[in-house]
Amino acid sequence: MPDTTSESGGVPHYDLAVVGAGVVGALTAYYAVRQDPARRVLVITHGVRGTGATRVSAGFDTPTGHNPAQRELAARSTALFDKLATELADLPGAGRQPVDVYWLLGRDNVAALDATMADGGTTSPVEPRQRRMLDEVFPGLAHGDGEVLLASAPMTAGQPQLLADHLLDAVLSSPANTLLEGFRVASVRRAGERVELVATDGSRVTADKAVVAPGPWALSGPVADAARERGARVKKVVAFHIMTTPPPGAPALIFEDADAFLLPHDPGGHWIFSITSPDWDRGPDEPLAVDARDRDMALALLERHVPGFVPHLLGGRVLGDCFTPGHLPVVDTVGDDDVVMAIGGSGSGYRLAPAMAEDVLDLLYGRTRI
Ligand SMILES: Cc1cc2nc3c(=O)[nH]c(=O)nc-3n(C[C@H](O)[C@H](O)[C@H](O)COP(=O)(O)OP(=O)(O)OC[C@H]3O[C@@H](n4cnc5c(N)ncnc54)[C@H](O)[C@@H]3O)c2cc1C
Repeated sequence: MPDTTSESGGVPHYDLAVVGAGVVGALTAYYAVRQDPARRVLVITHGVRGTGATRVSAGFDTPTGHNPAQRELAARSTALFDKLATELADLPGAGRQPVDVYWLLGRDNVAALDATMADGGTTSPVEPRQRRMLDEVFPGLAHGDGEVLLASAPMTAGQPQLLADHLLDAVLSSPANTLLEGFRVASVRRAGERVELVATDGSRVTADKAVVAPGPWALSGPVADAARERGARVKKVVAFHIMTTPPPGAPALIFEDADAFLLPHDPGGHWIFSITSPDWDRGPDEPLAVDARDRDMALALLERHVPGFVPHLLGGRVLGDCFTPGHLPVVDTVGDDDVVMAIGGSGSGYRLAPAMAEDVLDLLYGRTRI
């Protein structure tokens, strides 16, 4: 239970307040409690559990990075996911499944792709039997003369919301911890020995330390100025659904040059077709929808490479995500050693979340790997 003694002035007080109940906030809260089970943790969401990018995420984990820092985050996250898989007894594999991965890209870009692999692996040309399988799974599969199809080591498809829910359940299994819904934090500021979190309706809670993991709301909440200073922007992320059932063991196909992918979506029984929408600076509170421009982009890619999927392109999932320069998440203190922001999932916030959460705790409690 929170401390509501006279010392706290009747305001609920916790050891750690985590603003954000998405995958980054849930992992942070989980690791914080695992590190010190006596720690009283408050998790805050301005909506209900499941509000945010995590809820709609495609959950594809390609352990790659376009710069050394991103590759380090990706490799560390993979190791942390593996650790989670062994400790979450009621969520086998931490909700993650291996998926074979194939790549379609310009011949000239192969060396650059190989350099992104966080595990140091490389791609290899598809063998004839693999090509036959791909032709069956992706009807009409085609590419230009200057393009190649490559295979790589299997990667992972996860269920981000399922993972976040399990982590939050684990945190909330202790009565010392609380999930506060419908509490929209307007400011996080120092008040004497404590950090005070004030909601838009004027209500307050306090904590010794606070982390703000607001996902696409980075530019409208308590860390908005700091996020802007770090070059953060919000972009629409769109993942279409291809409403045809993937065969068992179906692989993913990544259109590397278009920053798009086709991923079998097991629980949904359909494909997810993620494209890179060019829609920048769209707040997550705006009514966001898959629009005709997104659909035209998706259709153009499919018509070129997998025309047999065109009739099945129906519906999808959409929200904003916070993008930072170099697509590198920013985990840093915000004007106070006891307040940290974790922003900039940049369309990869699920796969990088474990390392982001670990970095949050390192900043708040000292460098102890979890
Ligand atoms: C359609 C789509 C597909 C994606 N696919 C992938 C993928 O395949 N692989 C991948 O790695 N990533 C993917 N991403 C990106 C990834 O989902 C996000 O980067 C990640 O989920 C962000 O997690 P988060 O915890 O930071 O934010 P969110 O999940 O958005 O959670 C934010 C939380 O902060 C709370 N909050 C915000 N502001 C306030 C405030 N002022 N007061 C109180 N609470 C507040 C919200 O209520 C919410 O609980 C995708 C994103 C989208 C939109």
